Amino acid sequence: MLNPSGRVVVIGAGNVGASIAYSILNQEIAHEILILDIAEEMAKAQVLDMQDASNFTHGVSVKYADYKDIDDGDIVVITCGAAQKEGQTRTELLGINAKIIRDVISKIKTTRKNVYVCMVTNPVDVLAYIAVKESGLPEAQVFGSGTILDTSRLKGAIGRDAHVNSNNVHAYIMGEHGDTSLPVLSSGNIANMPLDTFVKLNDQYYTDIAGKIRNTAYEIIKGKKATYYGIGNAVASICKTIIRNENKIYPLSVILKGQYNAKDVSIGVPVMLNSDGYKIVGEVPLNDLERNLFDESVKTVKANIQAANA
Ligand code: NAD
Repeated sequence: MLNPSGRVVVIGAGNVGASIAYSILNQEIAHEILILDIAEEMAKAQVLDMQDASNFTHGVSVKYADYKDIDDGDIVVITCGAAQKEGQTRTELLGINAKIIRDVISKIKTTRKNVYVCMVTNPVDVLAYIAVKESGLPEAQVFGSGTILDTSRLKGAIGRDAHVNSNNVHAYIMGEHGDTSLPVLSSGNIANMPLDTFVKLNDQYYTDIAGKIRNTAYEIIKGKKATYYGIGNAVASICKTIIRNENKIYPLSVILKGQYNAKDVSIGVPVMLNSDGYKIVGEVPLNDLERNLFDESVKTVKANIQAANA
């Protein structure tokens, strides 16, 4: 069994990597944060800047690192690659980022260390699949951030509509972290009461909220070129759950083995996470519409995996 080292290694120190590191630093989730990037000068500057911030913590250490510094039990968060540009779909990023991720995984592999890997780079489902297949690490320790960010957006949106704190909203976005993601509202609830106690849960509401969540990333990118604070806090939560063995449920991108009638695909479904990694503890009941949309999402991700392997 793998024991978390309490360290997080962030590969890629751009907007997303820096935001994840900064969230982990400010919440004092790890005792040490290691940062690496091919843009060495920029990454070293990020480290210096975060070391300044760390003086206001209880002593979190932030260092520039190389692959050789990776050790057993570290959580390796992969954010490197090209970012989604305005008007560009996550799928278009596929070819460029698949190449980068294969290279990064092979470098992690040469360290021969037993680590957790959290893929964040897009298209995250395809790249998480590649990471599982090519890292040789136990499958429970390798996953993508999946629809954790989309789900937080959904809970926020329903919470605002219902005038209820989003922490009391229990509903997930499942499927691809991309254009075929789907809200699962049929089994959603607020304090054990069906969602339609609080919001008018008709087809129009479903279509509107699905579109709203899906377009948030595009809207943020249009206005400020990249999204990073949300994923920063989301991945910090994932790291905290592994380090503190919290047994929390998150919709991560994991390889299905017959669950939801799908196999050999990595896609966002709720799983339990702790220091052992993730475990698929059950299946969310889906109505006919959600089942069809999930099947479509699986098809899309599978086609992208095939394209990445071609
Ligand atoms: P960015 O361009 O700001 O940063 C990417 C960094 O990766 C750069 O600093 C670059 O130098 C580095 N890099 C490139 N190739 C590398 C390599 N081989 N080794 C080490 N470093 C390398 O981009 P960003 O805004 O930080 O976005 C990063 C990724 O995160 C993108 O793919 C983006 O789509 C994704 N993202 C995912 C989610 C999610 O929910 N999964 C959310 C937001 C962004």
